[in-house]
Amino acid sequence: MAADRDVSALAQPVTALRGVGARQAERLTNLGIHSVQDLLLHLPLRYEDRTRVRRIGELRPGEQALTSGTVELTEVATGRRSRLLCRLTDGTGGLTLVFFHFHPSQQKRLARGTRVRCFGEVREGPAGLQIIHPELEIGVDDDGQGDGLLPVYPTTQGLNQSSLRRLTDQALAWLAQAPPPELLPESLRRQWQLPGLIESVTTLHRPSSGISLGALEAPDHPARRRLIIEELLAHHLTLRLQRHTLREQAAAPVLRGNGRLTAAFTDGLPFTLTAAQARVDRETAADMASRAPMLRLVQGDVGSGKTVVAALAALRCVESGMQTAIMAPTELLAEQHYRNFRDWLEPLGVAVTWLSGRMAAGERRRALEALAGGDTQVAVGTHALFQDEVEFRRLGLVVVDEQHRFGVHQRLALREKGHSERAQPHQLIMTATPIPRTLAMTAYADLDVSVIDELPPGRSPVTTVAVPDSRRNEVMTSVAKACGEGRQAYWVCTLIEESDALQAQAAADTAEELQAALPELRIGLVHGRLRAADKDAAMKAFAAGEVDVLVATTVIEVGVDVPNASLMVIENPERLGLAQLHQLRGRVGRGAAASSCVLLYHAPLSDTARARLAVLRESGDGFEIARRDLEIRGPGELLGTRQTGAWQLKVADLVRDSELIAPVQQAADRMLWEAPADAHALIHRWVGEAARYGRV
Ligand code: ADP
Ligand code: MG
Repeated sequence: MAADRDVSALAQPVTALRGVGARQAERLTNLGIHSVQDLLLHLPLRYEDRTRVRRIGELRPGEQALTSGTVELTEVATGRRSRLLCRLTDGTGGLTLVFFHFHPSQQKRLARGTRVRCFGEVREGPAGLQIIHPELEIGVDDDGQGDGLLPVYPTTQGLNQSSLRRLTDQALAWLAQAPPPELLPESLRRQWQLPGLIESVTTLHRPSSGISLGALEAPDHPARRRLIIEELLAHHLTLRLQRHTLREQAAAPVLRGNGRLTAAFTDGLPFTLTAAQARVDRETAADMASRAPMLRLVQGDVGSGKTVVAALAALRCVESGMQTAIMAPTELLAEQHYRNFRDWLEPLGVAVTWLSGRMAAGERRRALEALAGGDTQVAVGTHALFQDEVEFRRLGLVVVDEQHRFGVHQRLALREKGHSERAQPHQLIMTATPIPRTLAMTAYADLDVSVIDELPPGRSPVTTVAVPDSRRNEVMTSVAKACGEGRQAYWVCTLIEESDALQAQAAADTAEELQAALPELRIGLVHGRLRAADKDAAMKAFAAGEVDVLVATTVIEVGVDVPNASLMVIENPERLGLAQLHQLRGRVGRGAAASSCVLLYHAPLSDTARARLAVLRESGDGFEIARRDLEIRGPGELLGTRQTGAWQLKVADLVRDSELIAPVQQAADRMLWEAPADAHALIHRWVGEAARYGRV
């Protein structure tokens, strides 16, 4: 049984170790270390190479080195700051040890002729090479033997390397005494020729002499690879198991529909579905016709037409007599969806209700009654939809737009609005954040993934340029010129602060500035702090061509659809993620006119920022942009909330280790069948408490 195994010595809290009191335990908690096992999986960040005692003559500035020599002279130098200088030689060269903090007795201990062994970073000093505050061993008779590779751990305030080394020494001794069970499937161990767990952990914490630093730090070192595979497998299992539990324990209503509403809807559209939209719609329909709750993620670049796919799913649900909830991350986007769905569905006789956190009490009460009583078939809203007092009469489908903005737990909360514990709604999740396949396979292992990999015909590519904000006036002039030719423009203000108020203020200031500089233009303003009616009016005026330049915060990232707008200026684009910039830029290039996007950056840019803006200039393909962003920044930001909490990896790296993901995925599915107890134990070993959080 998995439970018996977990009650091993290694599962004990760190306070079971010698020298760990409440204070120390708290510091360890900051590093995510709760149990002895966690400590063992807290691996060194790097190693200091102390394998060889180096000759002074071969030292180079910038390297960390272990060396030794005989003291030639030790003196206190006075000046702006007094310091102790100790001159060492070994016959091949000279080295100065520098101490800014020293005890007077140290000068005597470092008397001429004393043998000294030291370690530290070699630097170029005023009198040749020097080491500032080296680690010292005084009076040792040097046998020329090094100290091997010394682990350096990720640490936190108040916890030093030697404490961490002492603690891992203890934990390693426990490990040797209470060997944990082998949980990796034989097939994986054979395929990758992996060493055992004890050997791997011990090698990484206390590498034996004879291992080279380069080999040890490489991701394909067998000891490291073993742990990477274990961790990837554990995470994969966690997500698969969540999915499994959900699909096994709960049934969803069979929503086959009768095709009456969906047919009327597609017939009424001014366009035909793209092949990709039609394919994803078929995949969705097949899922909804099953008793197993649908868990499907639809990925599609900005403008690929995800909303239509959601509408078809909603109509199919309505045809089967059930309700649909459509949830969007911002008021603005939710409102846009509400308008769209109302315009599309009400002519078909389907009642659509709006629910947000900012409604008047009476209006809100009526909306809640309509949902609970079943008078309304489709509800559109923000996260207000999953608050406790919201009840549905018979919820059959939940659509979540732009899922990366929501936490996993929020999505799960909405799922629980099914009419009983064992009846779950189907879930359709939409995202415009394209995630490369290998990453999606791991990050969304609990979901089926559909991709809308085609844009509707007639879209023109957006020309993108990066311009320093020292040329802001020029940019303003060209905006004026474009508007003079009948085009419309967005001017997007970005702030790092999350605060709505500050963002709104920045946008208002910019609008005023533009109006003063360009009095002939009609300037509009939209931000998250405007009253819904004012926001609506500003949007409508822009859409109707009554406004030339719409100054906005990033609220327009999702939502607005104005084909005549063909120019976008984004201030301080270096503050935003590439995916977000790509989304913003997707607001232009929707009509037939050639469109452009000006990235008005603040110089100087870091190398990373420069590389990222270059990606945006070179590519208009969301998947390609995501892939490059991933290379530049790693998966953290791309996955948003997924990367926090339950999704923090200790040793594995989804990008670097992508070749391991497919075999791990196969092994995970087999393991859930063949060795479920091992699967649980492995989840507990690597994911622990976080797994419970994920399950909600
Ligand atoms: P997104 O995938 O970014 O959510 P939307 O659903 O907002 O995209 O669609 C973007 C625009 O494309 C909308 O104006 C929508 O009406 C239009 N559209 C959607 N599907 C098609 C299609 N097959 N042909 C032409 N236009 C389409
Ligand atoms: Mg959309």
